[in-house]
Order: sequence, then C-alpha cells, then structure tokens
Amino acid sequence: MNIILIGAQGSGKGTQAELLSQVFGVRHVASGDLFRKALQEKTTFGLQAQGYIERGELVPDEITVAMVLHCIEEPESSNGVVLDGFPRTLAQAQALDNELQRIGRQIDATVYLNVSHDELLTRLAGRYICHAHQHVYHVKFRPPKVAGICDLDGSELYQRSDDKGEAIEKRLNIFFHETMQVLDYYRQQQKLSEVDADPGVKQVQAALMNQLASHMERVK
Ligand code: AMP
Repeated sequence: MNIILIGAQGSGKGTQAELLSQVFGVRHVASGDLFRKALQEKTTFGLQAQGYIERGELVPDEITVAMVLHCIEEPESSNGVVLDGFPRTLAQAQALDNELQRIGRQIDATVYLNVSHDELLTRLAGRYICHAHQHVYHVKFRPPKVAGICDLDGSELYQRSDDKGEAIEKRLNIFFHETMQVLDYYRQQQKLSEVDADPGVKQVQAALMNQLASHMERVK
C-alpha cells in the first residue's frame, strides 16, 4: 500500500501520516524530516539542500527525488509507504510514478488535507518540534507536559527557523502555486480524495480513513 498525503505546512499531514503508517503497517517517509536529518548528519544531500531549506525554498528536484526514491527502495519500505511532503512538484510526481512502475509498484491513493490559509498561519507560528525525533507540538493546540521538553523522548523542543517570519509566507506561497499542480496530476489519474483538515486530529483521522476506504472500494 503506497499512499501520498498532500497538504500545506501546518495542515497536520505529519501527524496523520504517522497514524496511517501505524494503521497500515507501512513506513512513514517525510521528505522534510529526511532533509533535516541529512542536515544534522552533514551528509551530501544535507549539504546540498541546506541553503534552500534555510531560505524556505524548494530543494531542486534532482536532489529531492534521488533522496526520497533511495528511501522508498530500502527494505524497510517494502510493505509500502505513506509519503508526506513529497511529491511537491509535477516533475517529482512524474519521477515517482516512473520509478514505482520500474520496480512493479504504484501509488494507490492520494489525499489532500485542505486547511484555510489563516488557520495555517496560526498553526505554524505556534509549532515546536523536538530535536531527537521531530515530534510535533503546538503552544496552544498540543502543548508538551513540561514546557520546552518532548513528552516522548525528553529532548529539547525548538521552533524551526523556516516556521518564522518571511519563510512561512514563502513556503505557503510555494505550496499554493507549485503543489496545486500535483493535485491536478493525481486528480486526472482518479487517485485524489480530499479531506477538510480544519477540525482536530481525531476528526480528521476518521474522515481520512473514510475517504481511503471508499477510494479503495471504488478501484477494487
Ligand atoms: P517540510 O518539513 O516538509 O516543510 O520541509 C522542509 C523543507 O525541506 C522545505 O521548505 C524544503 O526546503 C525542503 N523540502 C522538503 N520536501 C521537499 C520536496 N518534496 N521538494 C523540495 N524541497 C523539499
């Protein structure tokens, strides 16, 4: 089972992708997390991507596609993946399809988590993540038990530099201009469903499971 979750930064797709990966027993592959890990470890992908990430810009397709496809082809991904943050451009979506076809796999479903622009700004401005595993918190909607510390692993929480100031607007603009083409691509393939992701985590998860179940029923 290979699923793509598409949503702007702050749409909650990381949280929902993690839940889906547990439900279906497939690997959660988040391109942003892969880049942040690569940056921390100073790998070639990390060093190539650093400037783009700091400026809130998309990393060029050649680098991103190579990094994510490498992860999809690892043995841990053999049961399937929930892709989060990838593909974000048409070229990435096409490269993904070509590679999956080559290895005898395919995308089964794509879900767009739709959140209003104002709600996204509020969510992003209060978002903190942990150093060790990138668990996500929010000062208002999901505060940690002890301020500044991750409930799950005790590591320190920090606000991403690209969740501040101009970088937020830039990232949202890129999403609404560039990534919308990716939605059209999967809509044409009749693989796209949409979920209103303004409500809380539980409600969105229920809607997401419903959409996936009815999509799977349609294509059976
Ligand atoms: P995210 O955590 O998904 O917001 O990603 C953080 C940053 O990583 C983005 O602002 C981009 O610089 C880079 N990035 C993540 N995924 C992609 C992608 N699919 N294409 C290009 N750049 C990406």
